[in-house]
Amino acid sequence: EVALADGTVFTTDLLVGADGAWSRIRPLVSAARPAYTGVSFVEADLREADVRHPVAAEVVGGGFFFALGAGRGFLAHRETRGDLHVYAAVVAPEDWLDGIDFTDTDTAKERVLDRFADWDKSLRSLVADADGALVPRRIHALPVGHRWDRVPGVTLLGDAAHLMSPFAGEGANLAMLDGAELAGFLAARPDDTEAALRAYEERLFPRSESAAAESARGATLLFGEDAPDALLEMFTSHG
Ligand SMILES: Cc1cc2nc3c(=O)[nH]c(=O)nc-3n(C[C@H](O)[C@H](O)[C@H](O)COP(=O)(O)OP(=O)(O)OC[C@H]3O[C@@H](n4cnc5c(N)ncnc54)[C@H](O)[C@@H]3O)c2cc1C
Repeated sequence: EVALADGTVFTTDLLVGADGAWSRIRPLVSAARPAYTGVSFVEADLREADVRHPVAAEVVGGGFFFALGAGRGFLAHRETRGDLHVYAAVVAPEDWLDGIDFTDTDTAKERVLDRFADWDKSLRSLVADADGALVPRRIHALPVGHRWDRVPGVTLLGDAAHLMSPFAGEGANLAMLDGAELAGFLAARPDDTEAALRAYEERLFPRSESAAAESARGATLLFGEDAPDALLEMFTSHG
C-alpha cells in the first residue's frame, strides 16, 4: 500500500523506488542508509561568465576544471548558456556546513573562503564573485556493493539503489540506464514480474558496485594527500 502526501492511497503489484538519496521505498528492501563521505560541497554560479566574470571564465576554460590541494579544491564547469557552475569542496566534519549561515551570502562566502585563505585570488574569485546564494551540499553515499534480497513486487533504481559520491560522474547516467533496463525487462516478461525484477537486479548490482567503487576511488584521487598528482597520474595513464 502506498500513501501519497496528497492523501491518495493505493495498492500496487509493482513498486519502483526511484525517489533518490533519501528514498522512502528503500527501507522495504534494505536497511542501508547513506553515510557522509567526509566531503562537503558549496555550490556557486557565475552567470554569463565571459562577459561578467572574464577572469573566472579564463581560469575555468571550456572543459571541466579542477584545482586541488590536500583536503580541498574547486571543481567547475561551463554550462551550455555560458554560466560557470562551481563546487568548492572541503574535507570537513559533517556539521561544518551547519556553522555557516547561508542566508547571509556575503558572510557565507567569507567562511567558505577561510578554507582557501592561501589560494590564488583568481581561484578564490570562483566563490567570491558568485551570483546569487551559495548552496551547501554534504556528499553522502550508500555502501559500495549495496544490494538486497529479492522482495516480491519492489525494486529500486538510481540514487535510491546506489547513491554514490559524484567523483566518477556516473549517478545520473546509471539512473537513466537503470530505468531503461528495468522497462525492457518488464516489457519482455509481462507474465512474470518477479523474473523481470530478478533479471534487472542481476545486472544492476555488479554495475552499481563497480561505479560506486570508482567514485570512492575518485574521492581519494581528488582529496587525498597525493592530490593533485594522483589525479594527473590517472589521466596520463590513459595516454
Ligand atoms: C554535486 C553533484 C554532482 C553530480 N554530478 C554528476 C555528473 O556529473 N554525472 C552524473 O551522471 N551524475 C552526477 N551526479 C549524480 C546525479 O545527480 C544523481 O545520481 C541523479 O540525480 C540520480 O537520479 P535519481 O532520479 O535516482 O534521483 P533524483 O535526481 O534525486 O530524483 C529523485 C526524485 O524523487 C522525488 N522524490 C523523493 N522522495 C519522494 C517522495 N517521498 N515522494 C515523491 N517523490 C519523491 C524527488 O523530488 C526527485 O524528483 C551528481 C550529484 C551531485 C550531488
